[in-house]
Amino acid sequence: MNGSTALSTPMTDPFGRTISYLRVSVTDRCDLRCFYCMSEDMTFLPKANLLTLEELDRLCTAFIAKGVKKLRLTGGEPLVRRNVMTLVRSLSRHLSSGALNELTLTTNGTQLAKYASELADCGVRRINVSLDTLDPRKFREITRWGEIDKVLEGIEAARAAGLAVKINAVALKSLNEDELPDLMRWAHGKGMDLTLIEVMPMGEIGSGRIDQYLPLSLVRARLAQQFTLTDLAESTGGPARYVGVAETGGKLGFITPMTHNFCESCNRVRVTCTGTLHTCLGHEDASDLRKPLRASDDDALLADAIDRAIGLKPKGHDFIIDRRHDRPSVSRHMSVTGG
Ligand code: SAM
Ligand code: SF4
Repeated sequence: MNGSTALSTPMTDPFGRTISYLRVSVTDRCDLRCFYCMSEDMTFLPKANLLTLEELDRLCTAFIAKGVKKLRLTGGEPLVRRNVMTLVRSLSRHLSSGALNELTLTTNGTQLAKYASELADCGVRRINVSLDTLDPRKFREITRWGEIDKVLEGIEAARAAGLAVKINAVALKSLNEDELPDLMRWAHGKGMDLTLIEVMPMGEIGSGRIDQYLPLSLVRARLAQQFTLTDLAESTGGPARYVGVAETGGKLGFITPMTHNFCESCNRVRVTCTGTLHTCLGHEDASDLRKPLRASDDDALLADAIDRAIGLKPKGHDFIIDRRHDRPSVSRHMSVTGG
């Protein structure tokens, strides 16, 4: 396609799915080391490989011109990227102009006490906070050295700033499986939705996945013995399926990449902090956007590269964890692609 046309052409993939949701990993670094996400001695990208905040802004802006309505910053831990609020502030102009419907982020919450009110001031309305347990000892075990108090303080700061908080928890065999009902009661008691996630086989983490993987079909069946779960028709266009919980009045989501394929309605793509576009979380596909971004001040080359990549978006993924396949399906860590 001619570059100048590509600048504002909507992104529709070969299966007719229109891309309106972009997730941007602004750093691969993190202040925690969740054992299912990273190995303890994780090697991070050299800082020189990273897009600058100005380049990230330009990249996001190009996607917004091509129809992205929802933008999520993630990581690694997005709030440990130096001066990340400059980027958030600058991107918020697209909310003011109406080009973007939602600017949000996924965070581990450790820095939220510092940034919550500024995020709200920039037009962020909802955030996802990842928290797998309420037990300080288990939290330390899962994150290798994290302090849960910082996260809980961060969540309270976010709520006080008026942000809607959704809690994301990875269901982990023998680690938090007994605690999930309590985690749900706690989240719902504070008016926060809870979404449970199945462990995905992404990246070498120094151990296999078999010991971590807990199918959510089992979790749901167990919860259904204690709670009245009613399927909710609503879908966010995302991979989560929601149920209402009569006893708590809250909403519970299930993200089940392993037991249920959710690709038919996929409306999203991901960009890493080095400007690599991944059109599917479960495939090795990758397109370099940094080169066209840096090759010219005009966005035509970039828009063309985006169109070419979207034209190759795979139909779906095929994650497997069993004894014969206890290896990463995808070599990238979740912290690189940004969950
Ligand atoms: N650091 C931020 C956080 O933890 O929310 C954002 C990035 S983190 C990679 C995004 C989400 O991916 C978190 O909810 C985390 O629990 C989840 N995650 C990381 N590795 C995963 C894996 N192998 N399988 C499933 N979820 C994973
Ligand atoms: Fe860091 Fe998030 Fe990965 Fe945990 S899940 S190590 S907080 S990037």
